[in-house]
Order: sequence, then structure tokens, then C-alpha cells
Amino acid sequence: MKKGQIGITTENIFPVIKKFLYSDHEIFLREVVANAVDATQKLKTLSARGEVSGELGDLTVQVKVDAEAKTLTISDRGIGMTAEEIEKYINQIAFSGATDFLERYKDDANAIIGHFGLGFYSTFMVSERVDIVTRSYQEGAQAVKWTCDGSPEFEITEVEKAERGTDIVLHIAEDCKEFLEEATISKLLTKYCRFLAVPVAFGHKKEWKDGKQVETDALNVINDTAPLWTKTPSTLTDEDYKKFYTDLYPMADEPLFWIHLNVDYPFNLTGILYFPKIKQNIDFQRNKIQLYCNQVFVTDQVENVVPEFLTLLHGVIDSPDIPLNVSRSYLQSDANVKKISSYITKKVADRLASLFKNNREEFEQKWADLKLFIHYGMLSQPDFYEKAHKFALFADVDGKQYTYEEYKEFIKDNQTDKEGNLVYLYASDKEQQFSHIEAAKAKGYNVLLMDGQLDAPMVSMLEQKFEKARLVRVDGDVISRLIQKEDEAVNALTEAQSKKLATAFEAMVPKMEKMELRVQTEALAEDDAPIVVTQSEYMRRMKEMAQFQGGMSFYGEMPDMYNVVLNSNHPLVKKVMTEVESATSESLKPIENEMRGLNARLQVLEQEQKDKKYDEISEAERKDLQECRDAIAAEEAKQKEVLAAFANGNAVIPQLIDLALLQSGLLKGSELNRFIKRSIELMK
Ligand code: ADP
Repeated sequence: MKKGQIGITTENIFPVIKKFLYSDHEIFLREVVANAVDATQKLKTLSARGEVSGELGDLTVQVKVDAEAKTLTISDRGIGMTAEEIEKYINQIAFSGATDFLERYKDDANAIIGHFGLGFYSTFMVSERVDIVTRSYQEGAQAVKWTCDGSPEFEITEVEKAERGTDIVLHIAEDCKEFLEEATISKLLTKYCRFLAVPVAFGHKKEWKDGKQVETDALNVINDTAPLWTKTPSTLTDEDYKKFYTDLYPMADEPLFWIHLNVDYPFNLTGILYFPKIKQNIDFQRNKIQLYCNQVFVTDQVENVVPEFLTLLHGVIDSPDIPLNVSRSYLQSDANVKKISSYITKKVADRLASLFKNNREEFEQKWADLKLFIHYGMLSQPDFYEKAHKFALFADVDGKQYTYEEYKEFIKDNQTDKEGNLVYLYASDKEQQFSHIEAAKAKGYNVLLMDGQLDAPMVSMLEQKFEKARLVRVDGDVISRLIQKEDEAVNALTEAQSKKLATAFEAMVPKMEKMELRVQTEALAEDDAPIVVTQSEYMRRMKEMAQFQGGMSFYGEMPDMYNVVLNSNHPLVKKVMTEVESATSESLKPIENEMRGLNARLQVLEQEQKDKKYDEISEAERKDLQECRDAIAAEEAKQKEVLAAFANGNAVIPQLIDLALLQSGLLKGSELNRFIKRSIELMK
């Protein structure tokens, strides 16, 4: 027997391992089983080179729980270790056997790398003692037992062991008893070892006999040693891919399509990425891409390995070149990881491009499911945008689909305004903006439907990407002002009339919480609607952006601002104007006279003071000006009162306003109730 110290400088490495290296204790199982698989693969490699004599026998790695002895044992029939190798690979922690082995067998290293750093020592996270009982494949090798209780001291003794290979016996610690439960181990093996390249068995298969479950002789193999991604794509059918998808995500809908990844330069990577049907909610993504390293499950937190938008995909990525057991921030800056990330982005874009090119019809059908994903990519990855803008689709309110280029050609002639800007009209809600859509269509314009989750930020981005173009929501203004052409209608009303009209309407606008309505008149065509409610594109966008990014909550808090636009050329509006005038001219005349006088005086006073410096103006002069202004304001208030009194007694004004609000879905609650009552009154 030999005693010794584990060759590390730290007084005791185990607390370090426990605290810092592994956030999840359960991964110890992955580490030991992966080591067993490595040892087995090394044996196979040596055997293939004629360096092992005799039959290899059954190479299944076996995991066993002994609840009574409180042990979990992982046994393999791999290359085993001699006492010297234990000294070198286990006792000298800094040494890694894999490195040494790779030096010797550089050529076929890929199959046998299993770089898990301090893998073996992770067993101390759950064990109070660990034994290694091992016999090397080398002829006449002496079996040895290494044992260590978590202190830097170990013992090594010579023992009898009939078979080649290694048993790792974990004496599970009192506070980690769950690792002695079959269900726990079974779950962990499925999670981490499901696709390992060497068969791994957990106990024996069971069957029902006389109403009881009994163990059979057959090993309970828990893994698929040749998962789909390791196979040659040309040998696989669609059914194979779909079946594998269901195996990975039993509850998911059938995928839209998939990409089989396979690179060996400048890094190694294989895998299959599936495009799932992504419906409305991005947040609700239970199924994730799984990351493997030589078929060993590493994580399903792939955020740092692939661009964020690709985390919406499903499937597996397997690469020995992604560093494991390192911090996330390190991962992000790793050069290999960056290369991998841009490679995958490119592959995904290419796959979409080829589907678009080769089967446009299918692509259009799948667009609804792909849209969110593609938009996400375009918004977050400039290199993805560069590819995707050639196949990303617009859909109009009637469901017709166009590429960006096609659409531009399509609307170019009709939807260019007098400044030469191409105006893209879009609706975000077909029902609510129905009348605006109809008004646009009546002018021969096309309206896009942008009702997706990411359409608001897409609109802002496209406006920047497209040259000489504006994207405006169809209810952003009256249609003739959204796309301004040369031929503007003449206004049937004078400026003073317009002002009076607006004031009368203003008086009847309902007061609603967090909503501001402003009345304005506009000279539209006679057959345009008499009144419409529009919402300023700018404010609306700011509010929408506030939902997507922080630091803009100021906009989020602002009231919704709408314009109530009166068409001063519409016969009904003209009729109201006539009524306003005949009903109010008597009472307004003295006010107007007074105003004329005051305005003239104001002009004089302002003129006098205009060119003077502040201290050249006397106190009295300043007072005069202020009094004049106050007097005008007072007259204006009177004027407003008269007009409001008229509007109050008029049936048409509130009715018109409410109809416009109703059309935009803005009339609610008590205001809606009042409208209904008034309408009934009108019919009596
Ligand atoms: P790594 O696997 O990254 O080298 P480990 O701490 O997991 O680090 O293992 C150290 C070394 O111990 C391995 O490289 C290998 O040489 C040896 N080893 C561990 N487990 C076994 C095993 N089951 N059979 C043979 N050798 C093993």
C-alpha cells in the first residue's frame, strides 16, 4: 500500500470544486460516464491499431445503484489504468490524460477527445469517499485500488480484479442521498448520456411477472449510440428527421423544416436544427437547442453559442470545439464560438434562401410561422438582414405576398408623393382600421398588413434601410395627406370659418382618460369622409418603441394623441358651418368687433416694442401690451362659450364626432352609452 498527497497547490481543492467549478452537482454523473466512454473508445482505437490482444468482449458501460451500501458504481471495460497512470492522470490534477493520448494518436483524435477538465474530481461534490478499482488493458497489468475521502490524502493498494477496465465507486454523501434513487439516476442518464457513443446500461430491463416487476438478464441500455446528427444526410429520410424531432420534443408540433449541419473546418461541428412553428408568443419557448460535446450533453442554455434569434430554433448542436465548464462571459468572447455562431447564422440564412428560391409556394405557406423568427434575425443580426431582405415577405391586407423588391416595383408608380418619396401604407389591425384601408384602396393604393409581434420595430428599421421611403400607418392621417400629390383640394371655408368650426367641435369632444383628441379641419375631396380620427405616426411609434426598450417609459406614460379631422369640403360639414354661422353671428358680432379693435391695438403695441431692448421699454408700455393680450384672451373665451353653447344644442356635431371615434374603436364605456342614447333620441 502506498499513501500520498494529491499534487495540487491549494490546501484542499474540493471546496473549490464544490463551490466554483460546477453550479450543478448532478453533472458529476456526466463526467464519470463520459470518462468511461472515453476509456472504452480509446480501447477500441488501440484495438483497431492492433495494440490490444484478445477479444474486447462486451463494452457496455454499466451504472449501478446499491442503496444498502450507499454506493453508485460506474463500470467500464475500457483501457483501465496502471498505478503509474493513476499517479499521472488522477493524482496530478494538472495533467490530463487526454492530452497525452492525443499527442500519441493525433490522427484519429476526434473520436476520443473528452476534455472535461477536472471531470473526475466533480464526483467529490456528492461523495464522502471515492474508490477507483482498475486494471489496465496492458498484458499482465496489476489491478489497483485508489481511494480518497475528499482530503488531499489518498491510498493506493494492489487488488484482485478479474476484468480489464475501471469501476468508479462513489460512496454517496449523507446530504446527497437523492443520487441513490433509481428515478434520479435514470433521469440524469437520459439528460446527459442519451446519445453517448458507447452503450450505457442502467441496471437490467424489467418485466411483469405474476403481478410483479422482476429484473431480466437483459441490460437496460439507456442511450442511442448513433444519433441522427452523426449520420450522413443522404442516407436519411424526412421521416427519420421528423421522428428524431419527436424523440427530442415529444409534445411539439411537426417542424417546418430542418438543416443538417456538418463542418470540419475551421472547427468541428455537427447537428440538426429544426424550424419549429413559432406562433404568437416568443417568450413561451420550452423546447430548446441542446448542445453536445462528442455526444455528451452539455447544456440547453445556448444563448452564448448562437445568436439570440437562433435560440428560437430547436434541435442539437454537437461540437468538440466549444469550451466547456467555463464562465458564460468567457464563452461569448471565445473566437471559436464566434466563428460557430456566424457559421450557423449563415447556414440558416442559406437554407431559407434556397427554400424561397426552389419552392416559393411552400415558402409563402410557411411564412406565417417563419415570420417572427426571420424578423427577429433581421432586427438583431445585420449579417442576417443582408441575406434575409431578399426573401423576407410583405403581405398585403388581402393576403397577397411580395418580396421587398417586388413590392417596391408594384407601388412605385402610384404611391410616390410629390417629394419623390415612396410611401408604404400599412395597417396593424384590419378590423379597426377598416375605413382607412378602404379609403386608401379607393385611391388605388395598396395596404400592407403589419400585425406581427415584431412589425413595429421592423417598420422603423425598414424605413432606415429603404431609400427615399416612408412607412406610414394607414390611420396616421387622412389618406390624401399620407401620400401628398400635387393636386390639393381648395378649401371651401375661410381660415376664420375653419377656426370657428373647429372650436365648436372641440367643445363636444368627449374627455377620456389617457387620451387627447385635437380637432382640425382639412380640405379633402368632397366624397372623402366628413370626419376621421387619425393618430400621429411619430407619437404612436415612440409609444410602441417604449414597449420594446427601456429608458423610454416617458413616452409610454404619455396620453394617446389623436386628431379628429374635419373635411371642410364635405357637404355635411359645410351644412354644419352654415348653421353655426346663422345661429351664432348675432352673438359673435360684438365680440368680433371688439377683437378687431384689440388685434389692431396689439399690432401697434408689438410694433412699437419690437426693436427696443428690454430695458428701453417702460413699465407702462409693458403693462399695456399685457392688458391687450389678456383682453384678447378674454374675448376668445367668450367666443368659445358662444360656439360651445351652439354645439351643445346641435344634434349633428356630437353625433359626427362619436361616429368617427366609433369607427376607430375609441368610443367606450359611458361615452358609448351616451352615444347610443342620443342616437335613439334622434330616431324618435
Ligand atoms: P479529463 O477527462 O478531462 O482528462 P478527468 O479528471 O475526468 O479529466 O480524468 C483524468 C484522467 O483520468 C483522464 O484523462 C483519464 O486518463 C483518466 N481516467 C478517468 N476515468 C477513467 C476511466 N474510467 N478509465 C480510464 N482512465 C480514466
